Amino acid sequence: MKWEDQEQSENVEDTRGSRRPAMAAGGGIGVMLIMAVAYFMGIDPNQAKKVAGALAGGGQQQQAGPPPNDKMKEFSASILGMTEKVWGKLLPENYRKPYEKPRMILFSDEVNTKCGNAPSAVGPFYCPGDKCVYLDPTFFDELETKLGGSKADFSKAYVIAHEVGHHVQNLLGYNELVDQFKAREGENSGIRLELQADYLAGVWAFHADKNYRIVEKGDIESALKTAKSIGDNRIQEKMRGKSWPESFTHGRDDQRIKYFTEGMKTGDASKATLDRFFSRSVKPLDL
Ligand SMILES: [Zn+2]
Repeated sequence: MKWEDQEQSENVEDTRGSRRPAMAAGGGIGVMLIMAVAYFMGIDPNQAKKVAGALAGGGQQQQAGPPPNDKMKEFSASILGMTEKVWGKLLPENYRKPYEKPRMILFSDEVNTKCGNAPSAVGPFYCPGDKCVYLDPTFFDELETKLGGSKADFSKAYVIAHEVGHHVQNLLGYNELVDQFKAREGENSGIRLELQADYLAGVWAFHADKNYRIVEKGDIESALKTAKSIGDNRIQEKMRGKSWPESFTHGRDDQRIKYFTEGMKTGDASKATLDRFFSRSVKPLDL
């Protein structure tokens, strides 16, 4: 993937290596958020819950050095910059809404957010309450080990674009629908949002490549490999030997691939509609 020449976003804050903020007492929301996002890259949610509990009760100050001297800030700011340009155009065009840029916070170890405290183990996530994408770049080291070398860059971009997809949903007011579905039908509707976020990530990839020629040979395959490896069925089978569809949070591997691929092939932001992803006649696992 070619990203080095792209203009970097000014909305990235690198808090890595700063003094850890004192932790407020953790609430239920924080733990729930952590359990939800822990699935993104295959962290056992029970483990994440334990860590979250420990953090909520802890609150020790810790001395740390300056931010690591790596390329992660440049990379993340370049990708975020491209999402700003793409969505800055697509959102008004397709939904007649101005695009409000999200912030991105790079952190190490743990972070205190409006959605609660989160340890690095949960992986990258978006908090609607503060319109912020949170990212501990060491997560990307794991991804790189799995995928091998520079081909991982496009997969990392996919992960960032997925989180920005949640921001787009937030601006469109889709997040609240999940609560409504849950209250009305007792349905675990998170999958609807997650698959739509994959679709939006694909739409971004289409336009980013069209405008900035970022995709290189092997990139798409690597992103699809990532999408496949983070399907709920794959993660559960890997961790526990079998899977429970009723406990899925992000969708099966074939679903994740389907929507990311479709977004990437069509680039059609107008198809991320309520009818399509939030139809009551289609169950999340049939999407
Ligand atoms: Zn997500």
